[in-house]
Amino acid sequence: REQRNKMPTYPGLERYHILDKMGDGAFSNVYRAFDTLTQEKVAIKVVRKHELNHSQSENDKKFTAVLARARNVLKRSNILKEVQIMRQLKHPSIVSLLSFSESPDYYYLVLELMEGGELFHQIVKLTYFSEQLSRHVIVQVAEGIRYLHEEKGVVHRDIKPENLLFEPIPFIPSKNPPIPGPNDEHKEDEGEFIPGLGGGGIGKIKIADFGLSKIVWDEQTMTPCGTVGYTAPEIVKDERYSKSVDMWALGCVLYTMLCGFPPFYDESINDLTDKVVKGQYTFLSPWWDDISASSKDLISNLLAVDPEKRYTINQFFDHPWVKDEPLLPKSKL
Ligand code: ADP
Ligand code: MG
Repeated sequence: REQRNKMPTYPGLERYHILDKMGDGAFSNVYRAFDTLTQEKVAIKVVRKHELNHSQSENDKKFTAVLARARNVLKRSNILKEVQIMRQLKHPSIVSLLSFSESPDYYYLVLELMEGGELFHQIVKLTYFSEQLSRHVIVQVAEGIRYLHEEKGVVHRDIKPENLLFEPIPFIPSKNPPIPGPNDEHKEDEGEFIPGLGGGGIGKIKIADFGLSKIVWDEQTMTPCGTVGYTAPEIVKDERYSKSVDMWALGCVLYTMLCGFPPFYDESINDLTDKVVKGQYTFLSPWWDDISASSKDLISNLLAVDPEKRYTINQFFDHPWVKDEPLLPKSKL
């Protein structure tokens, strides 16, 4: 009750009851809210149009005002681009934008609510995932990427566990199990319990945050954006390569789920950059000892430094680790 009273009110959002905060960034706050019109819960991403700066000297104020104006221009065009791209998307692995509106000070993105929150927190909670749970997650994310790359000509460019959100598997109440009668058939085999795939675990997973996404080709003509004849080779190349950034990120996410830590890490940003550029990562013992050679092969192909050699989304789906293993039955979700 106390928290509800502390929730801010925003002009233009009277239709919604803001329940609690789900995430916040430099420019945006994301709230869980109740839509009184549809009687459904939603997520609302509130983006400040202008950054407010309190408690600073007059000189600082003048300086930051100039900076802020420049940054606001950037942020504004970004948010409108994010909305423009999200409006074109409709896929079970993509968080959908339900509506967009604005007030003098804010932009509002009303989004499909992902109750489970970030994949990131689920990795922290479970330490690492089984191969089966990792496959369950990565295949759904990859289906979203295939839709973006192959059908929409969109690259996401910010695939990471913080931007992958899930719906939890519902808890099945088992307080009063039915007492078997004399005429009952044998009980249905429910299979083994897989940690992370019981109640509260990851059901559906979807890609969120299109703040850095980009359209690389025209949806109607299926050609690169802009006048092709005058486009410089490095731009054409750039657009071809840009899809491969999502595939690299997909490899990083898969690696992280399987062992619980990212493939590239260093306290120093310079050393980290160096490692990424050289593709310096290892399947560290003992953490990787019992993980399949097939998953390591797939990761190596996603973490190829040369974007020409890196797996495309279709090669991902053709890999035995993805293709030859059974997925979890949809009925369990
Ligand atoms: P930013 O550009 O600030 O990273 P995001 O769109 O990634 O904005 O949202 C920030 C955070 O808010 C996410 O990492 C997630 O924790 C939460 N969030 C965003 N959208 C939703 C949603 N539809 N459902 C649940 N949580 C969400
Ligand atoms: Mg984000």
